[in-house]
Amino acid sequence: AIRIDGLNKWYGAHHVLRDVSLTIAEKEIMVVCGPSGSGKSTLIRCLNHLEEYQEGNVSVFGHELQRDKQTEKFIHQTMGMVFQNFNLFPHLTVLENCTLGLTWLRKKPEAEARDIAMTLLERVGIAQLASRFPGQLSGGQQQRVAISRSLAMEPKIMLFDEPTSALDPEMVKEVLDVMVNLAQTGMTMVCVTHEMQFARQVADRVVFMEDGEIVEVGPPEQVLLNPQWDRTKVFLDHIL
Ligand code: ATP
Ligand code: MG
Repeated sequence: AIRIDGLNKWYGAHHVLRDVSLTIAEKEIMVVCGPSGSGKSTLIRCLNHLEEYQEGNVSVFGHELQRDKQTEKFIHQTMGMVFQNFNLFPHLTVLENCTLGLTWLRKKPEAEARDIAMTLLERVGIAQLASRFPGQLSGGQQQRVAISRSLAMEPKIMLFDEPTSALDPEMVKEVLDVMVNLAQTGMTMVCVTHEMQFARQVADRVVFMEDGEIVEVGPPEQVLLNPQWDRTKVFLDHIL
C-alpha cells in the first residue's frame, strides 16, 4: 500500500533520514519505535505531505507523491493522521470537530455528517460528550475525538504519531483499545509508539529507527524479544 524508496532528508546540514526504504502492505499494522530524534515523526510526516524530502520516492496505492494539488487531494482522501497533542479545534464542539471535514471538504449535508460522526463517537465510547468543547474533556477523551474526526473522512491508511505519550497513564488504555479495535477492522496503520504491549498485540511488523536509519525491521517477536542489533537491545532495555 505504501512504498518508501531510498528516502533521504536533510535539515540544513543535518541528515535526518538516511536512505530509508520500506514497504507497508495493505492492512498491515506497522509500529515504528526508536530513540528521541531518530527521525520517526519525520518519516511518517513524509508519507502524507507534511514534510518535504530531497531524495527518494514515496508511493501510496501506486500513486507517487509529488508536490502538487493532485497529490494533496489524494492524500486527503486516503490518509488520516493522529498527533500526540490531539490538534482539535478548541472553539468547536466534539461533534463539530468531527463533522467539519465532512461538510466543508466533502460537501455532505449537515444531517448525514452528524450521523456519520455520531456513529464514530459511539464506536469510541464518547457519544455522550458530543456537545462539549475539547477543553472540557480529558486527554484520553480528546484523543478519541481526534481518532473519530480522522475516521469520519474514511481514510484507507491511518498514521499515528505517539498518540498516547501526552496522556496520563490511566488514559493510555482507552486510546490503545480504540487503536486495537481499528487494527482489527483491517485498517492499514503506521504507528509511532513505544507502547510495546500494543506492538505485541497487533503489530505485523516493528521498525526500529536510529539516527535517521531503519536498523531493524521484522515481526514483533523478533524485533522485541530477539533483536539482532545491540542498539535495539539497549533501547528496549530502557523502555521495557
Ligand atoms: P521524538 O521521539 O522526540 O519525537 P523523532 O524520532 O520523532 O523524535 P524527529 O522529530 O523526526 O525525531 O526529528 C529527527 C531529527 O530532525 C532530530 O534531530 C530533530 O532535531 C530534527 N528536526 C526535526 N524537525 C526539524 C526542523 N523543523 N528543523 C530542523 N531540524 C529538525
Ligand atoms: Mg517524534
